[in-house]
Amino acid sequence: MQETPLQILQHTFGYDSFREPQESIIDCLCNDGDALVIMPTGGGKSLCYQIPALARPGVGVVISPLIALMEDQVSALRELGVNAGYLNSTQDWETTRETENAIRNGEIDLVYIAPERLIQERTIALLQQSPIALFAIDEAHCVAQWGHDFRADYLKLNILHELFPQIPRAALTATADERTRADIIERLQLSEAQQFISGFDRPNIQYRIQQKNKPRTQLLQFLRSEQQGNVGIVYCLSRKKVDDTAEWLTQQGFNALPYHAGMSGSNRQHNQTRFLREDNIIIVATIAFGMGIDKPDVRFVVHLDLPKSVEAYYQETGRAGRDREPATALLLYGLEDIVKLRQMMAGSEGNETFKRHEQQRLNAMLGLCEITTCRRQVLLRYFGDELAEPCGNCDNCIDAPDTWNASEAVQMALSCVYRSGQRFGAGQLIDILRGADTEKIRQFRHNQLSTYGIGSKLSISEWRTIFRQLIALGLLGVDSEGYGTLQLTEACRPILRGQDTIFLRREKATQKAAPARKRVLDIAEEDMGLWNALRQCRKELAEEHGVPPYVIFHDATLKEMLEKRPLNDYEMLCLSGIGDRKLEQFGEAFIEVIQEFEYQE
Ligand code: ADP
Ligand code: ZN
Repeated sequence: MQETPLQILQHTFGYDSFREPQESIIDCLCNDGDALVIMPTGGGKSLCYQIPALARPGVGVVISPLIALMEDQVSALRELGVNAGYLNSTQDWETTRETENAIRNGEIDLVYIAPERLIQERTIALLQQSPIALFAIDEAHCVAQWGHDFRADYLKLNILHELFPQIPRAALTATADERTRADIIERLQLSEAQQFISGFDRPNIQYRIQQKNKPRTQLLQFLRSEQQGNVGIVYCLSRKKVDDTAEWLTQQGFNALPYHAGMSGSNRQHNQTRFLREDNIIIVATIAFGMGIDKPDVRFVVHLDLPKSVEAYYQETGRAGRDREPATALLLYGLEDIVKLRQMMAGSEGNETFKRHEQQRLNAMLGLCEITTCRRQVLLRYFGDELAEPCGNCDNCIDAPDTWNASEAVQMALSCVYRSGQRFGAGQLIDILRGADTEKIRQFRHNQLSTYGIGSKLSISEWRTIFRQLIALGLLGVDSEGYGTLQLTEACRPILRGQDTIFLRREKATQKAAPARKRVLDIAEEDMGLWNALRQCRKELAEEHGVPPYVIFHDATLKEMLEKRPLNDYEMLCLSGIGDRKLEQFGEAFIEVIQEFEYQE
């Protein structure tokens, strides 16, 4: 008897119930409809096409640009007992032939195909002779020509509609904005498709944005106190900084690996594979590391440099916590970051409209950094989502920042910029305000200015915080020639005239280690013994099967095992993520570990 989608969910995937809106999407596809699915990372997009592919007769064809991941995706399905395969350029001829035959004979339930392969005549001819259940176009935002994930081959996927009009198609992405959505609909000819658009919130990600003081010390403290042994990504802007940081973290005893476009292809590949396969690697990367990192158990993303836009920040932090377990996004930023990015943009090629657009995007990012209220509310509002209440899971919610009436200090700073001729950077301006006696002060006779020494009550670091916020707020502009000189903008007139009060954020001398939570997965000290034993068992099985550990069981399943301590098959099956096949393959090994542990206790 044919299983229903719910039965497939329970028996094959081992989950109790669907999440919103999985069931309606599956219904739509099972009833021959097309679907446009926009769901945040970790929302559970894959099941939306995998289950209809299993429920419908024929082969589900998944088009995905993530060649590096296909093998893992397919082995994950095979571990669930699903008959799956893939076609891409990394395969030998023999395997290709076998897979093609299996497709033709309908002996396979799901096949992953790279877009460039799909559009070849040979593949199209094959598909025309084969029973097809549906087409799923994953990472559908790759059709957007202006986006940074654009793939020319995606534009040609409209042939699916033309050649297979009766086969349902699903286009899926986590990319949220309207322009991309419109592009997908138009280019993939999905105007008839039902749209399923979920909110963008990732409630399990804790957002924290801190002032950058001593970035390495801050990073180390974060890793040591909260993220021991966890998988994570550390983003840096430059290749050199990536290399240096990875090397330094290695010296500090972490398993850190670099990843950037300047490395040889094979080194990059090697590091990416280790990251995907092992369960305690920190990858230090430029944003070249991104697309296709759908490792579910990434516990943290750290930015050591400021992302250029809120979109980039959301996408990069979104690589944490796909498994919906607690994860942390930590961004460190400071005065230099802002000056550097403002300069880069002012000096970039491209017409004025483009530059203005970039500046606006950067301003939104800076706004997110400087706000003193809930970060998640601002982040979601940026994407058109409203969150009614403050989230309780960002640094501002956890430890509300102080503000102070900085009008007087701001006036001092702005008039100092004016009096010194709008030709100096923050360092010199602060020296003037604090009345420093340096060669440069004497050389430019800055000790004769009326603003010399008027700000000696504030420390250098307090002044830096003020200048940072003034630039972020657009009250000071940065030159485009790369000197970092600061200039007044129109916006600062009312303040200079003393007509406006201005409140600024006060940096805390020491940042509260935000949450009370010690380890991000919240494992109690007395459970660590069993937890490590379960992880070890998972690791051994993963090696034996040649798959990443999360393919055996996700952290969430392992955690439930830790809490419920199942000692027989029935109890095992009750855990989320354990279906028939996984029970059969792995149940016993884990029961033994638990028994052993209970015996010792
Ligand atoms: P996406 O592709 O949207 O980023 P995935 O399809 O990888 O997300 O799913 C994210 C995680 O959620 C996976 O670990 C998946 O097994 C799990 N998941 C999906 N649907 C359900 C469900 N109904 N119940 C429990 N877990 C689910
Ligand atoms: Zn919040």
